[in-house]
Amino acid sequence: MKTHWFTLHEDTFLWLKGNKVLVYNAENKNRALFNLSDKLEKICHRLLEIENLYTVELTDEDVNDEEISQWIHSLIDMRAGYLSLNVEFDKRPVSLMPVLKVQDNREYYEGQQELGFKGKILQNLHELTFYINGSEEGDAEYFKQTIFPVRSDLALERTRIRLFIKNSRSSFLSNVNLVGDLFLYPDIGELINDISELSVQLTIHILIKDFLNHVQEIKEMKWPTDTRINILVDRVFDVSSLKDLSFPFSLAVFIFSEDDFLRYSSLFDTFSLAQDIRFIPVYNGENMSFFESNVFMEKDDIDNVDLSKNEIFIRQAINVGDFGKLTIMPDGKVYANVNMPSLGTIDDSPYSIVYKEFTNGESWFRLRVQNPCENCVYQWLCPSPSNYEIVIDRPNLCHVRN
Ligand code: SF4
Repeated sequence: MKTHWFTLHEDTFLWLKGNKVLVYNAENKNRALFNLSDKLEKICHRLLEIENLYTVELTDEDVNDEEISQWIHSLIDMRAGYLSLNVEFDKRPVSLMPVLKVQDNREYYEGQQELGFKGKILQNLHELTFYINGSEEGDAEYFKQTIFPVRSDLALERTRIRLFIKNSRSSFLSNVNLVGDLFLYPDIGELINDISELSVQLTIHILIKDFLNHVQEIKEMKWPTDTRINILVDRVFDVSSLKDLSFPFSLAVFIFSEDDFLRYSSLFDTFSLAQDIRFIPVYNGENMSFFESNVFMEKDDIDNVDLSKNEIFIRQAINVGDFGKLTIMPDGKVYANVNMPSLGTIDDSPYSIVYKEFTNGESWFRLRVQNPCENCVYQWLCPSPSNYEIVIDRPNLCHVRN
Protein backbone atom coordinates (compact mmCIF):
# COMPACT_ATOMS: atom_id res chain seq x y z
CA MET A 1 0.00 0.00 0.00
CA LYS A 2 1.31 3.43 -0.95
CA THR A 3 1.18 6.34 1.40
CA HIS A 4 2.71 9.79 2.07
CA TRP A 5 5.73 10.56 4.20
CA PHE A 6 7.21 13.72 5.63
CA THR A 7 10.89 13.54 6.56
CA LEU A 8 13.11 16.04 8.36
CA HIS A 9 16.69 16.49 7.22
CA GLU A 10 19.40 15.25 9.56
CA ASP A 11 20.65 18.81 10.18
CA THR A 12 17.23 19.95 11.36
CA PHE A 13 16.45 20.29 15.06
CA LEU A 14 12.85 20.08 16.22
CA TRP A 15 12.28 21.46 19.72
CA LEU A 16 8.90 21.32 21.45
CA LYS A 17 8.29 23.25 24.66
CA GLY A 18 4.88 24.14 26.06
CA ASN A 19 2.71 25.31 23.19
CA LYS A 20 5.61 26.24 20.89
CA VAL A 21 7.64 24.33 18.37
CA LEU A 22 10.92 25.64 16.97
CA VAL A 23 12.40 24.17 13.82
CA TYR A 24 16.07 25.04 13.22
CA ASN A 25 18.04 23.99 10.17
CA ALA A 26 21.67 23.94 11.31
CA GLU A 27 22.95 23.69 7.76
CA ASN A 28 21.44 26.86 6.27
CA LYS A 29 20.57 28.44 9.68
CA ASN A 30 16.93 28.94 8.74
CA ARG A 31 14.46 28.71 11.59
CA ALA A 32 10.73 29.01 12.20
CA LEU A 33 8.64 29.20 15.35
CA PHE A 34 5.08 27.82 15.37
CA ASN A 35 2.24 27.55 17.83
CA LEU A 36 1.71 23.92 18.65
CA SER A 37 -1.84 22.81 17.88
CA ASP A 38 -3.04 19.29 18.72
CA LYS A 39 -2.58 18.26 15.07
CA LEU A 40 1.00 19.53 14.85
CA GLU A 41 1.85 18.13 18.26
CA LYS A 42 0.86 14.63 17.15
CA ILE A 43 3.03 14.89 14.03
CA CYS A 44 6.00 16.31 15.94
CA HIS A 45 5.87 13.60 18.58
CA ARG A 46 5.88 10.93 15.90
CA LEU A 47 8.83 12.58 14.18
CA LEU A 48 10.71 12.57 17.47
CA GLU A 49 10.23 8.85 18.14
CA ILE A 50 13.66 7.39 17.41
CA GLU A 51 12.30 4.28 15.66
CA ASN A 52 10.47 6.46 13.10
CA LEU A 53 13.80 7.69 11.72
CA TYR A 54 12.69 11.34 11.54
CA THR A 55 9.89 10.39 9.17
CA VAL A 56 6.15 10.54 9.76
CA GLU A 57 3.39 8.87 7.81
CA LEU A 58 0.65 11.20 6.60
CA THR A 59 -2.83 10.36 5.38
CA ASP A 60 -4.58 12.04 2.43
CA GLU A 61 -6.58 13.92 5.01
CA ASP A 62 -3.37 15.20 6.69
CA VAL A 63 -1.87 16.31 3.40
CA ASN A 64 -5.06 18.19 2.50
CA ASP A 65 -5.47 19.75 5.94
CA GLU A 66 -4.80 23.48 5.65
CA GLU A 67 -2.85 23.85 8.87
CA ILE A 68 -0.71 20.72 8.41
CA SER A 69 -0.09 21.52 4.77
CA GLN A 70 0.99 25.08 5.58
CA TRP A 71 3.33 23.83 8.29
CA ILE A 72 4.89 21.21 6.04
CA HIS A 73 5.39 23.67 3.20
CA SER A 74 6.99 26.22 5.51
CA LEU A 75 9.49 23.54 6.50
CA ILE A 76 10.06 22.53 2.88
CA ASP A 77 10.63 26.21 1.98
CA MET A 78 13.32 26.49 4.66
CA ARG A 79 14.80 23.20 3.44
CA ALA A 80 14.21 21.56 6.81
CA GLY A 81 12.29 18.59 5.41
CA TYR A 82 10.65 17.05 2.37
CA LEU A 83 7.47 15.31 1.37
CA SER A 84 7.29 11.99 -0.46
CA LEU A 85 3.88 11.25 -1.94
CA ASN A 86 2.54 7.78 -2.73
CA VAL A 87 5.59 5.81 -1.63
CA GLU A 88 5.53 2.24 -0.31
CA PHE A 89 6.54 1.60 3.30
CA ASP A 90 9.69 -0.28 2.27
CA LYS A 91 10.80 2.58 0.07
CA ARG A 92 9.99 5.38 2.47
CA PRO A 93 12.79 7.90 3.04
CA VAL A 94 14.53 7.92 6.41
CA SER A 95 16.84 10.30 8.17
CA LEU A 96 18.83 10.49 11.41
CA MET A 97 17.58 12.86 14.07
CA PRO A 98 20.48 15.00 15.40
CA VAL A 99 21.08 13.52 18.85
CA LEU A 100 24.09 14.20 21.02
CA LYS A 101 26.25 11.14 21.65
CA VAL A 102 28.82 11.69 24.37
CA GLN A 103 31.65 9.22 24.78
CA ASP A 104 33.85 11.00 27.32
CA ASN A 105 31.15 11.53 29.91
CA ARG A 106 31.22 11.28 33.70
CA GLU A 107 30.31 7.59 33.77
CA TYR A 108 33.11 6.76 31.33
CA TYR A 109 35.77 8.33 33.57
CA GLU A 110 34.29 6.83 36.74
CA GLY A 111 34.47 3.42 35.07
CA GLN A 112 38.07 4.04 33.97
CA GLN A 113 39.03 5.07 37.51
CA GLU A 114 37.46 1.91 38.98
CA LEU A 115 39.45 -0.15 36.49
CA GLY A 116 42.63 1.62 37.55
CA PHE A 117 43.03 3.51 34.27
CA LYS A 118 43.51 7.23 34.47
CA GLY A 119 42.40 7.47 30.87
CA LYS A 120 42.59 10.68 28.92
CA ILE A 121 40.86 12.89 31.45
CA LEU A 122 43.70 15.45 31.62
CA GLN A 123 43.31 16.03 27.89
CA ASN A 124 40.20 18.01 28.78
CA LEU A 125 42.27 20.62 30.61
CA HIS A 126 43.30 23.36 28.20
CA GLU A 127 43.62 26.57 30.20
CA LEU A 128 45.11 27.53 33.59
CA THR A 129 44.71 30.94 35.22
CA PHE A 130 46.99 31.79 38.15
CA TYR A 131 46.20 34.79 40.35
CA ILE A 132 49.84 34.97 41.37
CA ASN A 133 49.35 37.84 43.85
CA GLY A 134 46.93 40.64 44.67
CA SER A 135 46.82 44.26 43.58
CA GLU A 136 46.08 47.36 45.64
CA GLU A 137 43.73 48.29 42.84
CA GLY A 138 42.06 44.87 42.93
CA ASP A 139 38.45 44.16 43.80
CA ALA A 140 36.87 41.58 46.07
CA GLU A 141 33.95 40.82 43.73
CA TYR A 142 34.69 41.50 40.07
CA PHE A 143 36.89 38.41 39.60
CA LYS A 144 33.66 36.40 40.00
CA GLN A 145 32.49 37.77 36.63
CA THR A 146 35.69 38.07 34.57
CA ILE A 147 39.46 38.06 34.97
CA PHE A 148 40.13 40.94 37.39
CA PRO A 149 42.88 41.15 40.04
CA VAL A 150 41.87 40.66 43.66
CA ARG A 151 43.08 42.42 46.77
CA SER A 152 45.33 39.99 48.60
CA ASP A 153 48.60 39.99 50.52
CA LEU A 154 49.25 36.41 49.48
CA ALA A 155 51.33 35.25 46.54
CA LEU A 156 51.69 31.85 44.87
CA GLU A 157 55.20 30.44 45.00
CA ARG A 158 56.87 30.07 41.64
CA THR A 159 57.92 26.45 42.32
CA ARG A 160 54.32 25.44 43.11
CA ILE A 161 53.04 27.14 39.95
CA ARG A 162 55.70 25.45 37.85
CA LEU A 163 54.96 22.01 39.31
CA PHE A 164 51.21 22.38 38.82
CA ILE A 165 51.69 23.34 35.16
CA LYS A 166 54.18 20.53 34.65
CA ASN A 167 51.76 17.98 36.12
CA SER A 168 48.89 19.39 34.03
CA ARG A 169 50.73 19.08 30.81
CA SER A 170 49.35 17.29 27.87
CA SER A 171 49.45 18.52 24.34
CA PHE A 172 45.94 19.85 24.99
CA LEU A 173 47.02 22.45 27.58
CA SER A 174 47.31 25.50 25.37
CA ASN A 175 46.85 28.65 27.50
CA VAL A 176 48.28 29.93 30.76
CA ASN A 177 47.12 33.26 32.23
CA LEU A 178 48.92 35.19 34.96
CA VAL A 179 46.89 37.78 36.87
CA GLY A 180 47.94 40.29 39.54
CA ASP A 181 50.24 43.20 40.15
CA LEU A 182 52.87 41.18 38.36
CA PHE A 183 55.79 43.51 38.76
CA LEU A 184 55.50 43.34 42.52
CA TYR A 185 55.90 39.57 42.23
CA PRO A 186 59.49 38.74 43.21
CA ASP A 187 60.26 36.11 40.54
CA ILE A 188 58.21 37.40 37.63
CA GLY A 189 61.03 37.20 35.05
CA GLU A 190 61.92 33.63 36.06
CA LEU A 191 58.28 32.58 36.18
CA ILE A 192 57.68 33.91 32.66
CA ASN A 193 60.82 32.11 31.46
CA ASP A 194 59.65 28.86 33.09
CA ILE A 195 56.34 29.08 31.29
CA SER A 196 57.86 30.13 27.99
CA GLU A 197 59.78 26.84 27.92
CA LEU A 198 56.47 24.98 27.69
CA SER A 199 54.67 25.32 24.41
CA VAL A 200 51.68 27.24 25.72
CA GLN A 201 50.28 30.67 24.97
CA LEU A 202 51.07 32.92 27.94
CA THR A 203 48.85 35.93 28.62
CA ILE A 204 49.60 38.49 31.32
CA HIS A 205 46.54 40.33 32.71
CA ILE A 206 47.39 43.57 34.49
CA LEU A 207 45.35 46.56 35.61
CA ILE A 208 46.11 49.82 33.80
CA LYS A 209 47.28 51.54 36.98
CA ASP A 210 49.73 48.72 37.79
CA PHE A 211 50.83 48.69 34.15
CA LEU A 212 51.56 52.43 34.11
CA ASN A 213 53.39 52.17 37.46
CA HIS A 214 55.79 49.66 35.88
CA VAL A 215 55.71 50.76 32.26
CA GLN A 216 59.46 51.32 32.05
CA GLU A 217 60.25 47.81 33.40
CA ILE A 218 57.66 46.35 31.05
CA LYS A 219 59.20 48.12 28.06
CA GLU A 220 62.72 47.00 28.98
CA MET A 221 61.81 43.40 29.69
CA LYS A 222 62.71 40.74 27.11
CA TRP A 223 59.33 39.13 26.41
CA PRO A 224 59.32 35.59 25.06
CA THR A 225 57.64 35.44 21.67
CA ASP A 226 53.98 34.49 21.92
CA THR A 227 53.51 36.30 25.23
CA ARG A 228 50.54 38.63 25.20
CA ILE A 229 49.73 41.44 27.60
CA ASN A 230 46.08 42.11 28.29
CA ILE A 231 45.72 45.52 29.93
CA LEU A 232 42.65 45.77 32.13
CA VAL A 233 41.17 49.25 31.89
CA ASP A 234 38.97 50.30 34.79
CA ARG A 235 39.58 54.06 34.55
CA VAL A 236 40.25 56.79 32.00
CA PHE A 237 43.98 57.18 31.33
CA ASP A 238 46.38 58.86 28.95
CA VAL A 239 46.28 56.55 25.92
CA SER A 240 49.45 58.07 24.46
CA SER A 241 51.33 56.00 27.12
CA LEU A 242 50.57 52.94 24.98
CA LYS A 243 52.05 54.35 21.81
CA ASP A 244 55.62 53.05 21.90
CA LEU A 245 55.00 49.53 23.12
CA SER A 246 56.93 47.01 21.09
CA PHE A 247 55.00 43.90 22.14
CA PRO A 248 51.48 42.72 21.32
CA PHE A 249 48.83 43.81 23.75
CA SER A 250 45.07 43.93 24.02
CA LEU A 251 42.75 46.05 26.11
CA ALA A 252 39.85 44.75 28.21
CA VAL A 253 37.76 47.78 29.09
CA PHE A 254 35.31 47.39 31.98
CA ILE A 255 31.97 49.05 31.47
CA PHE A 256 29.48 49.77 34.24
CA SER A 257 27.13 52.10 32.37
CA GLU A 258 26.27 53.52 28.97
CA ASP A 259 28.20 56.67 29.91
CA ASP A 260 31.30 54.53 30.46
CA PHE A 261 30.89 53.07 27.01
CA LEU A 262 30.63 56.51 25.40
CA ARG A 263 33.55 57.87 27.43
CA TYR A 264 35.88 55.00 26.53
CA SER A 265 34.78 54.88 22.91
CA SER A 266 35.69 58.55 22.45
CA LEU A 267 38.97 58.01 24.35
CA PHE A 268 40.06 55.30 21.93
CA ASP A 269 38.69 57.18 18.91
CA THR A 270 41.50 59.67 19.26
CA PHE A 271 44.17 57.00 19.25
CA SER A 272 44.58 54.49 16.52
CA LEU A 273 45.31 51.15 18.11
CA ALA A 274 45.99 48.16 15.95
CA GLN A 275 45.33 46.01 19.02
CA ASP A 276 42.20 44.28 20.24
CA ILE A 277 39.86 46.29 22.40
CA ARG A 278 37.10 44.38 24.17
CA PHE A 279 34.37 46.04 26.23
CA ILE A 280 33.35 43.92 29.21
CA PRO A 281 30.19 44.77 31.18
CA VAL A 282 30.60 44.43 34.95
CA TYR A 283 27.74 44.19 37.43
CA ASN A 284 28.30 46.25 40.58
CA GLY A 285 25.02 45.61 42.36
CA GLU A 286 23.59 48.95 41.27
CA ASN A 287 23.61 48.85 37.47
CA MET A 288 20.88 46.33 36.75
CA SER A 289 19.11 48.69 34.34
CA PHE A 290 22.35 48.93 32.28
CA PHE A 291 22.47 45.14 32.19
CA GLU A 292 18.80 44.85 31.29
CA SER A 293 19.24 47.27 28.39
CA ASN A 294 22.61 46.13 27.09
CA VAL A 295 23.43 42.60 28.24
CA PHE A 296 20.11 40.80 28.50
CA MET A 297 19.17 39.04 25.26
CA GLU A 298 16.15 40.02 23.21
CA LYS A 299 14.34 37.61 20.91
CA ASP A 300 16.01 39.39 17.96
CA ASP A 301 19.44 38.45 19.33
CA ILE A 302 18.45 34.79 19.44
CA ASP A 303 16.94 35.01 15.96
CA ASN A 304 20.38 36.03 14.72
CA VAL A 305 22.25 33.16 16.35
CA ASP A 306 23.86 30.95 13.68
CA LEU A 307 24.99 27.67 15.17
CA SER A 308 26.18 24.54 13.44
CA LYS A 309 24.99 21.11 14.52
CA ASN A 310 28.23 20.53 16.42
CA GLU A 311 28.00 23.89 18.16
CA ILE A 312 24.53 22.94 19.39
CA PHE A 313 25.79 19.55 20.58
CA ILE A 314 28.57 21.31 22.49
CA ARG A 315 26.01 23.53 24.28
CA GLN A 316 24.04 20.41 25.16
CA ALA A 317 27.11 18.74 26.66
CA ILE A 318 29.32 21.29 28.40
CA ASN A 319 29.49 24.82 29.72
CA VAL A 320 31.32 26.56 26.90
CA GLY A 321 32.74 29.32 29.16
CA ASP A 322 34.06 27.05 31.91
CA PHE A 323 34.89 23.71 30.34
CA GLY A 324 38.58 22.79 30.37
CA LYS A 325 39.63 25.70 32.58
CA LEU A 326 41.00 25.88 36.13
CA THR A 327 41.70 28.99 38.18
CA ILE A 328 44.19 29.08 41.05
CA MET A 329 43.78 31.93 43.55
CA PRO A 330 46.61 33.54 45.60
CA ASP A 331 45.77 31.28 48.59
CA GLY A 332 46.46 28.22 46.41
CA LYS A 333 42.84 27.06 46.13
CA VAL A 334 41.84 25.65 42.74
CA TYR A 335 38.45 26.22 41.10
CA ALA A 336 36.74 25.13 37.92
CA ASN A 337 34.69 28.30 38.38
CA VAL A 338 35.54 30.77 41.15
CA ASN A 339 31.86 31.01 42.09
CA MET A 340 31.72 27.32 42.99
CA PRO A 341 33.39 25.43 45.87
CA SER A 342 37.12 24.84 45.55
CA LEU A 343 38.18 21.47 44.13
CA GLY A 344 41.50 21.30 45.98
CA THR A 345 44.75 23.18 46.16
CA ILE A 346 47.72 23.86 43.94
CA ASP A 347 49.57 21.07 45.77
CA ASP A 348 47.03 18.45 44.66
CA SER A 349 47.51 16.62 41.40
CA PRO A 350 45.74 18.27 38.45
CA TYR A 351 44.43 14.79 37.60
CA SER A 352 42.58 14.51 40.95
CA ILE A 353 41.13 18.00 40.51
CA VAL A 354 39.94 17.41 36.96
CA TYR A 355 38.54 14.00 37.97
CA LYS A 356 36.64 15.64 40.84
CA GLU A 357 35.15 18.25 38.51
CA PHE A 358 34.21 15.60 35.96
CA THR A 359 32.50 13.37 38.48
CA ASN A 360 31.08 15.78 41.10
CA GLY A 361 31.73 19.29 39.82
CA GLU A 362 29.22 22.04 39.26
CA SER A 363 30.96 24.13 36.60
CA TRP A 364 32.17 22.33 33.48
CA PHE A 365 28.76 20.71 32.98
CA ARG A 366 26.57 23.63 34.08
CA LEU A 367 23.96 23.67 31.32
CA ARG A 368 20.88 25.70 30.59
CA VAL A 369 18.63 23.17 32.29
CA GLN A 370 16.95 25.19 35.03
CA ASN A 371 13.54 26.75 34.86
CA PRO A 372 12.67 28.80 32.81
CA CYS A 373 15.31 27.78 30.25
CA GLU A 374 14.48 24.07 30.42
CA ASN A 375 10.95 24.96 29.28
CA CYS A 376 12.00 27.36 26.53
CA VAL A 377 12.30 26.45 22.83
CA TYR A 378 15.52 28.51 22.61
CA GLN A 379 17.24 26.41 25.31
CA TRP A 380 20.02 25.14 23.03
CA LEU A 381 20.38 28.24 20.87
CA CYS A 382 21.17 30.39 23.90
CA PRO A 383 24.75 30.57 25.17
CA SER A 384 25.82 28.44 28.13
CA PRO A 385 25.02 30.05 31.51
CA SER A 386 27.72 32.58 32.38
CA ASN A 387 29.12 34.00 35.60
CA TYR A 388 26.73 36.94 35.27
CA GLU A 389 23.78 34.65 35.96
CA ILE A 390 25.47 33.45 39.16
CA VAL A 391 26.46 36.92 40.37
CA ILE A 392 23.10 38.50 39.50
CA ASP A 393 21.39 35.41 40.91
CA ARG A 394 19.08 34.80 37.98
CA PRO A 395 18.90 31.63 35.86
CA ASN A 396 18.45 33.57 32.60
CA LEU A 397 19.47 36.98 31.33
CA CYS A 398 16.90 37.59 28.66
CA HIS A 399 13.71 39.46 27.90
CA VAL A 400 12.16 36.53 26.05
CA ARG A 401 8.70 35.56 27.23
CA ASN A 402 7.69 32.00 26.48
S1 SF4 B 1 17.94 32.52 28.41
FE1 SF4 B 1 16.58 30.82 28.89
S2 SF4 B 1 14.52 31.68 28.95
FE2 SF4 B 1 15.86 33.18 27.89
S3 SF4 B 1 15.62 32.69 25.72
FE3 SF4 B 1 17.39 31.56 26.47
S4 SF4 B 1 16.60 29.56 27.04
FE4 SF4 B 1 14.85 30.95 26.87
